Amino acid sequence: MIRQAESSPGGALNAELIQRAEELRRTLNDASFEYYVLDAPTLADAEYDRLLRELRILEDEHPELITPESPTQRVGTEPATQFVKVSHLAPMYSLDNAFSMEELRAWEERNARILREVREAGYVAELKIDGTAVSLRYEQGVLVRGATRGNGRVGEDITQNIRTLRDVPLRLRGAAERMAPLLEIRGEVYMPLSGFRAMNEKRAEAGEPVFANPRNAASGALRQLDPRLTAQRPLRFFGFQIQTDPADPRPLGLATQADVLAQLSEWGVPTNPNRRVCASLDEVLGFIEECDAARARLDYGIDGIVIKVAPLALWPELGVVGERDPRYAIAYKYPPDLAVTQLLAIEVNVGRTGSINPYARLEPVVIGGATVKLATLHNFEDIARKDLRVGDWVWVKRAGEVIPQVVGPVAERRTGEERAFPIPTQCPSCGSDLEHPVDEVMLYCPNGSCPDRIYWGLVHFASQDAMDIRGLGERTAQQLLARGLVDDFADLYGLTAEDLLLLEGFGDVSSRNLVAAIEASRAQPLSRLLFALGIRHVGAHAAQVLAREFRTMATLLETGVDRLAAVHGIGETTAAAVHSFLQEPHNRALLARLADAGVGQEEPVERAERSTLQGLTFVITGTHASSRKELSTLIERHGGRVAGSVSRSTDFLVAGEAPGSKLDRARELGVRVIDEPGLHDLMENAPAPDTTAGEVS
Ligand code: NAD
Repeated sequence: MIRQAESSPGGALNAELIQRAEELRRTLNDASFEYYVLDAPTLADAEYDRLLRELRILEDEHPELITPESPTQRVGTEPATQFVKVSHLAPMYSLDNAFSMEELRAWEERNARILREVREAGYVAELKIDGTAVSLRYEQGVLVRGATRGNGRVGEDITQNIRTLRDVPLRLRGAAERMAPLLEIRGEVYMPLSGFRAMNEKRAEAGEPVFANPRNAASGALRQLDPRLTAQRPLRFFGFQIQTDPADPRPLGLATQADVLAQLSEWGVPTNPNRRVCASLDEVLGFIEECDAARARLDYGIDGIVIKVAPLALWPELGVVGERDPRYAIAYKYPPDLAVTQLLAIEVNVGRTGSINPYARLEPVVIGGATVKLATLHNFEDIARKDLRVGDWVWVKRAGEVIPQVVGPVAERRTGEERAFPIPTQCPSCGSDLEHPVDEVMLYCPNGSCPDRIYWGLVHFASQDAMDIRGLGERTAQQLLARGLVDDFADLYGLTAEDLLLLEGFGDVSSRNLVAAIEASRAQPLSRLLFALGIRHVGAHAAQVLAREFRTMATLLETGVDRLAAVHGIGETTAAAVHSFLQEPHNRALLARLADAGVGQEEPVERAERSTLQGLTFVITGTHASSRKELSTLIERHGGRVAGSVSRSTDFLVAGEAPGSKLDRARELGVRVIDEPGLHDLMENAPAPDTTAGEVS
């Protein structure tokens, strides 16, 4: 824990204060690195804000403490090295924070001392979207580059990833004369909460680490080296600023921030509809309160309200503090959604990969409008680090995170009755001795026949992205196991329609249909089977990479761990997990029975080399460098499907010059829009290296 320095205003600078400033700089800079570069924060945002504020106060009182590397002087952090670094037309700033109405008034007061007109100028209040800042460069109205904010002056070039965002226009709508020839649209890329939840569920099912919150998920997705991975993540965009070239003196004719937002909408850039033009700070306060009451209903996270002085002409006159915070705007931050309640029990469940997942059962408590009864405890290392004991009063946080989290105990309320929860050594489902792989925080049940693992494993095996056995969901899986009709995956292939008639809810037709669906799944290629088996660390992508390389299960069974690890896109951890799975005697017996049943076809060569667009539906519109016929053939050769009209099942609209009504329809339905180069990127990009390292569980 970091101590609070005792600093009296104007007090003498002493060694303790120098040391404290140094300590704060180090802690904050480390936290920034974890937050911006690794997308894996270790400090709560409110704690970060509190420490930054403490440093600011220290530096205000003793300006001689300010150093160039102080976080009060810098925006974000240095761009990562694996992306090309690009300069912004003008700096992208951070924002100063206000935590109360008094602080907002003090902000207005300070501004009015610099520029008297501020008091009468009015404000525009907008939601502060909890995503990640990007700048989109348009030349003659055409998207040419997308970049992260980076250190404010220089960001990372993420153009290919930005192109996969369905609501970022590749071309601005409207007359080019009304646009500057060169401009940057700034805004926030975010992940809707519904998409975030669904994605995390899928990741957990695939045994992949889940994201801590939608912000980190969005930021991590934007910084994938493989745009296909970005395209799979549900990212959206809201624009809020237009930056023209400082060297170009021609004005765009926009007077206020409200005009900026209206102009963006006219160009086809999504803007957040929840905003208000306010004549005074009192009106802003009304908006803040309304939004606070309504924010639980939004499908995206917000962490406050941004208040901007309305007339753009006043912005340069107000200036910037410390190369970081422009004075024309401030972020009012809502207090984090925290509550104290009692930790009634620590419970554990077993995932299909065997991961042992502890969670907290809580005395129900209302946080941010929702009743919370359960909260994740991540893993046992985390429980030990936080020193959580059953019976403790604990802080629980909901905030931007969708999954409630236990922050820590209220140590002062301990009575001595609280009990530490012993780290389990045996699986709660089957009693097997648990394993703790080196370099991993999770514990695992190694028993492939563990009932809980089998149940979740069976549900996964049959799921759409795996063997795609329609009609075999959770309820059916439960009944098949309970009635002893199925003990493992191979047993499915011996089921008859008569067997299924024994199950509740099954009649003649549904029984025959399920048997037919099971039958049809024999034709699935190796990639599907590998994914379906639920091998630790093998998600759909790794399964495809392995299947393309080795093509048959027989070859894979003979492959050594070094050879597996040498495959581009397969890390050492995955190679070791695959190898140990394939060597395990029970698994070998299961695979032999599956092979006897004719399950798992050789990965087709055509597909193996070119299936980058497998399962995706495209619609082509407008004029492209290649003819439509050429584009269709290319898409089909890469495993994709070309349809004639845009519908909900369209994955991408490939739009060229003069796209016409299909583009409007695609926008309406939220279909992703790409151009021909974007299509080539989707087809050609090499399999991604293991980029999950920055993701946190
Ligand atoms: P910020 O998030 O406080 O605010 C600036 C950003 O807000 C802008 O760059 C912009 O992208 C965004 N924004 C969203 N909606 C906007 C709108 N309508 N108008 C204008 N801007 C809008 O600043 P920051 O520099 O990105 O990050 C600082 C914050 O990040 C801290 O306050 C802290 O909460 C968090 N942080 C946390 C850690 C940690 O370890 N937990 C580390 C570093 C930063």
